[in-house]
Amino acid sequence: MITNRQLFLQHVATTSDFPIALEIERAEGIYMYSPDGKPYLDLVSGVSVSNIGHGHPRVRQAIKDQVDKYMHLMVYGEFIETPQVELAKLLSDNLPESLNSVYFVNSGSEANEGALKLAKRYTGRSEIIYFTGAYHGSTHGALSVLCDEEMKNAYRPLLPDVRMIEFGNVLDLEQITETTACVILEPIQSEGGMIIPSKEFIQTLRAKCTEKGALLIFDEVQMGFGRTGKLFAFEHFDVVPDILCLAKAMGGGMPIGAFISDKKILDCFKSKPMLGHITTFGGHPVCCAAAKAALEVLLEENIVADVQRKGELFVSLLKDHPMVKGFRQLGLFIAVIVESQEIMVEIMKEAYEIGVVMDAFLFCDNAYRIAPPLNITDEEIRHASDLLIQAMDKVRK
Ligand code: PMP
Repeated sequence: MITNRQLFLQHVATTSDFPIALEIERAEGIYMYSPDGKPYLDLVSGVSVSNIGHGHPRVRQAIKDQVDKYMHLMVYGEFIETPQVELAKLLSDNLPESLNSVYFVNSGSEANEGALKLAKRYTGRSEIIYFTGAYHGSTHGALSVLCDEEMKNAYRPLLPDVRMIEFGNVLDLEQITETTACVILEPIQSEGGMIIPSKEFIQTLRAKCTEKGALLIFDEVQMGFGRTGKLFAFEHFDVVPDILCLAKAMGGGMPIGAFISDKKILDCFKSKPMLGHITTFGGHPVCCAAAKAALEVLLEENIVADVQRKGELFVSLLKDHPMVKGFRQLGLFIAVIVESQEIMVEIMKEAYEIGVVMDAFLFCDNAYRIAPPLNITDEEIRHASDLLIQAMDKVRK
């Protein structure tokens, strides 16, 4: 009999040389279950998606209720769809006043694409500044602001007029000038290996953008929705971006993204003859209903308030293990630093064998990531740490 694994390898195209190819039958809370019933403890959250765990009952119910009313009606932005309106209002209510207008899209890459286009159109300038350690997605625009030049090679020419400067280096911010349309960054870098810049750096960046009339774009696709212990990562720095990009955890497991700005800025997308940003499925009503439920769960269950303490609990349980060389941690996004890439891969393999799913970082070789659902309990953290210690012990032998 042909197995699903064989069919997957034959017919499902991927970009991964060695996909995990783990088959999951169902998932609930912090666990995913293979067809033979083996539980896998999820320490990745589908890469910062399942922030309120898998299959939260409120999200499932919201999806079912909306499916029973309607699904797709019309290309984005033409009809009044209640789930969209309610979600836009809920997001605006939980953001600073200037982030009051929400443009819904389908993914993180598309949110960043939209934001870059908006900045070019609003400022009438073309230069885009990005940073070392940056990942903003895989579409052409987002790829143009990827930090790794080699990874881009097959796809050139990409966007002209992009300039990479050093993340965290205040002096490099001098390169922002009157010709800069925008600066795009994650205020806290994820794929760079959990890099937390100084408050001075982010505040100087904000001031420089304001001075030069460049728009500041924060990509919180991965770090938004409570991951760092604040609802949004920019709250750590007491600054507000001009455009905020969201996706991943936003949909509670459903695909949705958004770029959010001031209505005064977003309104410039309207005037013809130039295109704004057309999307058929952006802000799909079922995804909006799921996203609203997911955000309500985060807020009403006060989940974010406990995230930093839980991150610190993880660190305290793992810190004395001889394989652990250090941590970079904020909230429940933890880079566990080990001696080498080989050791990191070995630990991940052993963990996987005993039923723990973890992940590496795109641009950091000697660390593995812990980023579980934010509503993981203390007991589950202790259990996860025990399993990780078992995995690290095995690699040590
Ligand atoms: N920005 C960041 C910071 C991301 O981590 C990702 C996805 N890993 C993206 C953008 C792209 O999001 P998507 O895969 O939904 O296009």
